[in-house]
Amino acid sequence: MESNKVVSFQSLSQNVGRFNLRNKTFLIPQMNRIGSHLLAETFRGFGIDAKVMETHKGLDLGLEHTSGKECFPCQITMGDILYFMKKEEERLGESFNPESYIYFMPEADGPCRFGMYNKYQRIVLDSFNKLDRLKIGSLSTDDGYSLAGLIEEEHVRDLRKAAYFSVVVADILDRLLWRVRPYEKEPGMADDFIENSMHVMGNTFAECSSGKEFNKVLDKLEDIVREGKAIIDPAISPKPLIGMVGEIYLRTHIQANQDVIRVLERYGAEVVNASISEWVNYTTYDRLRDAKIGLRLNLKQFRVRPMMEHLKKVVNFGVELLYQQSKQKQVYKRVRSLIDLAEDHKVAHLEDTLKEQDLYSFDAGTEACLSIPGIVEYARDGYNGVVNVYPFTCMPSTMTSAIAMPLMNKLRIPYLDTPYDSSFQPGREAAIRTFMYQAHQHLKRNGRKNLSGH
Ligand code: SF4
Repeated sequence: MESNKVVSFQSLSQNVGRFNLRNKTFLIPQMNRIGSHLLAETFRGFGIDAKVMETHKGLDLGLEHTSGKECFPCQITMGDILYFMKKEEERLGESFNPESYIYFMPEADGPCRFGMYNKYQRIVLDSFNKLDRLKIGSLSTDDGYSLAGLIEEEHVRDLRKAAYFSVVVADILDRLLWRVRPYEKEPGMADDFIENSMHVMGNTFAECSSGKEFNKVLDKLEDIVREGKAIIDPAISPKPLIGMVGEIYLRTHIQANQDVIRVLERYGAEVVNASISEWVNYTTYDRLRDAKIGLRLNLKQFRVRPMMEHLKKVVNFGVELLYQQSKQKQVYKRVRSLIDLAEDHKVAHLEDTLKEQDLYSFDAGTEACLSIPGIVEYARDGYNGVVNVYPFTCMPSTMTSAIAMPLMNKLRIPYLDTPYDSSFQPGREAAIRTFMYQAHQHLKRNGRKNLSGH
């Protein structure tokens, strides 16, 4: 790919945004492997040619085209799209046409840097001949990741529901893996089983999502959970239970976090990671919260028009949150009747937890709103240790660490920060080993949580 130095700022508004996905190839970056694949299959079920890009292979390209000041996920995803485009050009030769793709890079409305990834990546793509024609499809937390504009209006609601459902099911498959792998009868059984299950579930989503046949998906999920449970060797004693929080990309992208869950397991852990659905629920909850604040303010000043607009938002986001939480609860209820997987707390409960202890405010936003109360809940629930996983210099996770570390010290619960960038820290494994020694001691002293909650 040749570099083209002329970059226009108009491109930031014209070539980043909501674009119709019909007759395009929708390129989804791989964050957590299972979630990205199930989401792609859900889009396929609606007739969209969605594809999950390989990840981490283009890291050198990502590092070459960033300055070093960007967050690590920005560098990885930058490399992923440049690598994918390079390979497509090699594969297709003359017929390579960047206009036939839409590259998916969502954003958040601040205050941290995630809102700038797609703008920055736009500038880099525009500096390449041809790639200035590759559009970036963006969704925003500003409207709770609404899918309006991506496909025909009449399918938007169904696609949104199916996409959310795929996120919940992917969380369950991830949690099933972390639940059974530390107790597997033979090494490798759990990984092979979950890899296969991901494809089975993917095909099910492609077949069932547009027809809203969610019960068929749930039936298949139950079969998988039953089979997965049989991998557990009952002779292996319960291990220290470790709760994980942190920045969503790093804690779910196993190449970026140097497979930290597996390293913890090597030293005897059973891990529960925060879920992706929790973040989706948070974005809807936060929009609802903003709308309620706006409604109250306008009510006080008796400004009728803005009052009605906020009221409409309260109803819309309220209904959406209710749907998401009840769907999530329904899935977990069926799965938890078969195996003791951890379930999520409601976001409202997490906000109450923060208020109770006056630790942080939802007004400040970011993932710290979930990580800090998530840590408090792990402590209350009797976990034997907590790990905070994040990109080096990540703002919300650094705040989380500043608040959580003294709290965990006071409660005498082992706590570990694991910041990552593209380098390998020589002392990392020793830190994890020491942390796990403390977690084993905690288990001996205090026992551990029974995940079934009984
Ligand atoms: S959450 Fe952290 S890693 Fe993500 S954009 Fe914000 S500062 Fe960067």
